[in-house]
Amino acid sequence: MKASLYIGRPFGIRVTVHWTFFILIAYVVYINIRHGSPMVEVIESVIFIFAIFGCVILHELGHSLAARKFGIVTNGITLLPIGGVASLTRIPEEPQKELFVAIAGPLINLAIALILFFILLFTGFDFSSLFSLHYLNSIGFLPALMLVNVMLFLFNLVPAFPMDGGRLLRAGLGLRFNRLQATRMAARIGQLFAVFFAVWGLFHDPFLILIAVFVFIGAQAELQDVQSKSMLEGKKINDLLMRNFTLLNPQMPLKQAVDILLNGQEEEFVVHNGNKVVGILTKSLIIKGLSEYGQDVETEKIMETDFPVFTKDDAVKDVYERLQLSGTRIAPVLDNDILIGVIDIKNIHEYLLVFEATVKKKWF
Ligand SMILES: [Zn+2]
Repeated sequence: MKASLYIGRPFGIRVTVHWTFFILIAYVVYINIRHGSPMVEVIESVIFIFAIFGCVILHELGHSLAARKFGIVTNGITLLPIGGVASLTRIPEEPQKELFVAIAGPLINLAIALILFFILLFTGFDFSSLFSLHYLNSIGFLPALMLVNVMLFLFNLVPAFPMDGGRLLRAGLGLRFNRLQATRMAARIGQLFAVFFAVWGLFHDPFLILIAVFVFIGAQAELQDVQSKSMLEGKKINDLLMRNFTLLNPQMPLKQAVDILLNGQEEEFVVHNGNKVVGILTKSLIIKGLSEYGQDVETEKIMETDFPVFTKDDAVKDVYERLQLSGTRIAPVLDNDILIGVIDIKNIHEYLLVFEATVKKKWF
């Protein structure tokens, strides 16, 4: 993502900071200066924010490394002003595993808080001062950082799916109900919390409104995803296969592909050399190829050669997941190395729409 600044690669996981994060820094500097704080305090509060976000990175690393135990890869960690996001390639479906991955983040904050607690204890810090003062600035850097980690720990445990606490709730429900039912209940509870956050935020803290939006939309999106996947359960690719499709030849000039694109409904194509599939050509690749090489370039030169391939007995659910991950919209389907059709993510979506229309809606 270009909108993010690269920080580093702890444990091989790419960490970036989203540009909006710097608005937060600017805002804190602005507030401090407006209150007439001396420069030392301004710098200290900026360093404090970086320290908090360091703890947030550690929290996300906790999730990522827990997920790694189950072979789940993290594509990256991004810091946003409202917190961190670890992009896992998938969420474990088994409740026990989801529980483990979900709790790993908050436990990191608890651990940091405990470490700071013992450091303060051994340096003779007067803990009663925590309860007698109002402003974090006036209690000192380390005690404030300890409190922030306690708050991060507690806040993340609020069962507002898809926040960590909500995932714990779903995993717990998943021990008794099936995954779809558990997600549905957790998502509805999450959305109730979102409404509560939004109302509370209106009067107390505008940040909570942002989190409310994130929770509300996130809960709906995850529910949708689980719903889709449960509908695809048990289906084989053979049921959804498209058997009428246009094959392109690798030596074909791009102009011909453009004609086919303009004259029909198809937007993604399989490139076949007579023996086997050698590439995929999408609408965006065609447009990119036209502007870079002109219309006489051979298809071979602009096609995508890294693409998933499926066989007719593959489960649609897995195919759907892999297409979502790879970012490819179309993939060839083979039977004993012979091309028998193509599967298109658009087709899966259409199938889901038709299926959804025939299933009764439930409200939890
Ligand atoms: Zn978390």
